Amino acid sequence: MSHSTTPENTHALTGTMKAALFYQPNDVRYEETPIPAIGPGELLIRVESALTCGTDVKCYRRGHPVLLKNFPSPFGHEFSGTVVQAQPTEAEPPRFQVGDRVVSANSAPCYQCFYCHKGQTNLCERLDLLNGAYAEYIRVPAQIARHNTYRLPDHLPFEIAAFSEPLAVCLHGLAQSRIEAGDHVAVMGLGPIGQLMVRAAKLKRAKVTAMARTPNKLALAQQFGQADQIVNLLEYENPEALRAAFTEQGRGFDVVIEAIGKPETWEKAVALVRKGGTVNLFGGCPGGSSVTFDTRRLHYDEITLVSSFHHTPRHFQAALELLGSGQVDPRPLISKTASMADFESALQQVEAGQAIKIALKNQ
Ligand SMILES: [Zn+2]
Ligand SMILES: [Zn+2]
Repeated sequence: MSHSTTPENTHALTGTMKAALFYQPNDVRYEETPIPAIGPGELLIRVESALTCGTDVKCYRRGHPVLLKNFPSPFGHEFSGTVVQAQPTEAEPPRFQVGDRVVSANSAPCYQCFYCHKGQTNLCERLDLLNGAYAEYIRVPAQIARHNTYRLPDHLPFEIAAFSEPLAVCLHGLAQSRIEAGDHVAVMGLGPIGQLMVRAAKLKRAKVTAMARTPNKLALAQQFGQADQIVNLLEYENPEALRAAFTEQGRGFDVVIEAIGKPETWEKAVALVRKGGTVNLFGGCPGGSSVTFDTRRLHYDEITLVSSFHHTPRHFQAALELLGSGQVDPRPLISKTASMADFESALQQVEAGQAIKIALKNQ
C-alpha cells in the first residue's frame, strides 16, 4: 500500500486495505475493503500491533450484541499504531500529527449523560465501542481521538503499548475492589486478564494468591505476576480446605477477584472471602446464567459484592504509564507474533490454550 499525506494532514488516503470482517459467528474473512474515509476530528491510524483478546475469541464464536453491529463488522479492539491522517474540526486543529506513534482506547465517554456526570464514565450511555484493529488501517472516531488517544513514549514498543486496554480494565477492576496495601487478594483465573490483575495487585502492595487449573498459567503468575502463592484449583475443590491451607487461621481472603466468568466460580469466590471482605465478580458469565448465594453468609458476614465493566480514560492513561515506566512489562504474556492475515488461526490458538496472547503485525 503506497500513500502520501500533505502537511495539512487533510489529504485523503484512498484505495483499499486488507481487514478482518465479521460476517457471522465462525465466519470472519480477511479481505480487501476500502480504506476508511475520516471526518472532522477523526484519525486514520496504521495498525502497527494488534493483540488477540478473549473477548474477540468469544465474539468470533458467538457474535456479540453490543460490540458487533452492522455486518460485515470490523473486528479486533486492542491496538496501537501510527497516525497517517488527522482531520481538524471547525474549532480545533488536530491533536495529533502524521507520524505520531499512538494508542487509542476502544471507547470514550460522552461526558454529557447521567453516568458521565456521576463520574461513572465506563457506564456512559453513548459508549460506542471501536472495532477494526485486525486491519491495515483503523478509523478512530473524533470522541476517542479527543479524549482517549495518547502519544507513546519513544522507547515503548507498539506491542507493549497495545496492552493499555486490557491493563486499564484491570486497574478499573482493582479500584472497584478497594484494595489496600497489605491486603491478601485472591485472583481466580489466570488468562491474560487474570495475569495482569495479579501483577497490578502486587503493585498495590497486596499479598496475592493466584489460582487456576493449569500448571503453565500458575508458573506464569509467579514469573510475570510475582504472585506470593499459587493454588491449583483442581487440588482444592472444597473452599474450606483452600481457605485453611492458604489464608491465616483459615479465615479467608480480604479480597477475591473472580476472573473466570462461570456461575460456579462466582459462587466459589464468595465462599473464599473472609468476613467483611470484598468479592469482585469480574469475569462475565454467559448471557442468561444465574447464581445462588447463601443470604446468611452475605448478610451476617458482611460480604461486599462488587462488579466491574470496561475502563475509564483515567485508568487507560494510568495503564499506559505503568507500561511506559516498565512497572508492568507484559512481554511474557505474548506467546508469539504473527501476521495480521493469520488472525483467525491466532484466535483459535488462544481458544485452544496454546497461546496467552498473540501480537499481530502488518507486513
Ligand atoms: Zn480486550
Ligand atoms: Zn456519557
